[in-house]
Amino acid sequence: MEKIKRLTIKELLRSAESMVNTRVDVKGWVRSRRGNKYVQFVALNDGSTIKNLQIVFDLAKFSEDDLKAVTTGSSIHVQGMLVASQGKGQTVEVQAEEFELYGTAPVESYPLQKKGHTLEFLREKAHLRPRTNTFGAVLRIRHALAYAIHKFFNDKGFYYFHTPLITASDCEGAGAQFQVTTLPLNELPRTEDGKIDYSQDFFGKMANLTVSGQLEGELGATALGLIYTFGPTFRAENSNTPRHLSEFWMIEPEMAFYEIEDNMDLAEEFIKYCIGYALENCRDDIEFLAEHFDKELIDRLNFVLHNDFVRLPYSEGVKILEESGKKFEFPVYWGVDLASEHERFLVEEHFKRPVILTDYPKEIKAFYMKMNDDGKTVRAMDVLFPKIGEIIGGSQREENLEKLEGRINELGLAGMDWYVDTRRFGTVPHSGFGLGFERLVLFVTGMQNIRDVIPFPRYPNACEY
Ligand code: ATP
Ligand code: MN
Repeated sequence: MEKIKRLTIKELLRSAESMVNTRVDVKGWVRSRRGNKYVQFVALNDGSTIKNLQIVFDLAKFSEDDLKAVTTGSSIHVQGMLVASQGKGQTVEVQAEEFELYGTAPVESYPLQKKGHTLEFLREKAHLRPRTNTFGAVLRIRHALAYAIHKFFNDKGFYYFHTPLITASDCEGAGAQFQVTTLPLNELPRTEDGKIDYSQDFFGKMANLTVSGQLEGELGATALGLIYTFGPTFRAENSNTPRHLSEFWMIEPEMAFYEIEDNMDLAEEFIKYCIGYALENCRDDIEFLAEHFDKELIDRLNFVLHNDFVRLPYSEGVKILEESGKKFEFPVYWGVDLASEHERFLVEEHFKRPVILTDYPKEIKAFYMKMNDDGKTVRAMDVLFPKIGEIIGGSQREENLEKLEGRINELGLAGMDWYVDTRRFGTVPHSGFGLGFERLVLFVTGMQNIRDVIPFPRYPNACEY
C-alpha cells in the first residue's frame, strides 16, 4: 500500500471537508458489514470516537471471497478515496481501493456479535467490553473527567500530592482494609503469647492497602498549602451495592487556611467544572448514552450545572425526613447515619437539587473532624446527588491539639503521633474532602451500576484479569 499518514477516525472526521476527494489511510475494528451483491458497507471504529467511518467496498473491485473474513470484530487497514456520502447517518465515507486484514474474529467464537447485549452479559466479558459503543463512550468520558480534575486543580494552584497505597495506619475508620503480607499463610510465625508475629512480615509490622489518602494529604497541605490526591483506594467491605467497589479511585483535595464554607464553595465549583467540561468535550458520547440509557441525562447535568446546591445542617435534614410522612426502609432519627434512600429523598423529592449536608453528630463521623461549639456535632459536609446519594464526603479538620488528642484517646486510636505533629507544630485551620471518582463518572454517564464505569471492576467474588 501507498505510504500515507494514517489518521484516526476522529481526526479524519474533524478535517473531513478539506480532505474530501483525497486518498486516506484508516485502521480499525469492524463493527458490522452489510450490503448486497454489488456493494458492501463496513462500519469501522478505531476507538478514537463513538462515530463509525463507513467503508464502501465495490464488488466489481473486490470479490465476496476477499471480504469473507471481514466480520464483526475483525481488524483491517484500508486505503481509499474520502468522498461525500449519499447515505444517511454520515457526511463522508471511504471508497475502498485497497485493504489488508490484520486479524480475524470468527463469527462462531467472537462474543460481541449483535448490538444490544445487556450490561450484565458485558460484565462477564469485561475483557472485551471496551470494544462496544457503550463502554467506548464511558471510558472516553472517564478519561476526560480525569483530565478535567487535574486541570481544575492545577489552574487553581493546587499541587498533585502522592500518598501511599500501602500503609501501616488504620485510623481512618472509613472501611475494612485489605491486608498486605508476605507471611506464609499456612504457617504463620507466632509470638510467645500466640499472636501473629508481624515483626517477621515484609515491613516488620502489619500493613494494609489504603482506604483514603487524607491523613497523609494533611501532611502535604500543611506544607504546600493546597494539595490534591488522585489515586486508587481499597475497601474490603462486603457491600454489594450499585455504588460501591472494592477498588476505586478517589480525589482528595486538602487545603490549609480553608474553613468549612470555603470547603463547600470549592466542592461545588469543582464538581460543576467537571460536569461542564464533560458536556463541552464529550458531547457525542454523552448524547449516545442519553439516547440509549437515560433520556433525562443531559437535562440533569445541565440542571446541576446551573443551580446552587442547597446547604443544610444534618439536624434540619433529619427533621425534614421525620416530617415527610414517607415510609423508609431504615428508620430516621437524630444520630442515625443516613441511608442512601434518605439522602436521595432530600435531593430528589424534597429540594430537587444537590444538597450539602453539614454538622453531623460526632458519633457517626471520623475523629479528625472539627468539633462545633455545641460539643455534639462536627463540621462535616457531605455532598448528596440525585441518583447517587453521597458523592463527596468532607470536613473542616480539628486543628486544636488538645481536642484532637482528646478524640484520639476517647476512641483508643494508636500510632497517630506523626499525624498529631501537624497540630503540635504550626497548626492551622484546614479542610478537605474526598470525591469518589467512579461516582462522578456514574453521574456524568447516567449509568446505573458503578461496575460499568471502571474498566476492570473489583467487588466481592470478582477479581478477573
Ligand atoms: P458510603 O456511605 O457511600 O459508603 P463513605 O461514607 O464510606 O460512603 P467516604 O469514606 O467519605 O465515603 O469516602 C469519600 C467518597 O468516596 C464518598 O463520598 C464516595 O464518593 C466514595 N466512596 C466511598 N466508598 C466507596 C466505594 N466502596 N466505592 C466507590 N466509591 C466510594
Ligand atoms: Mn462506605
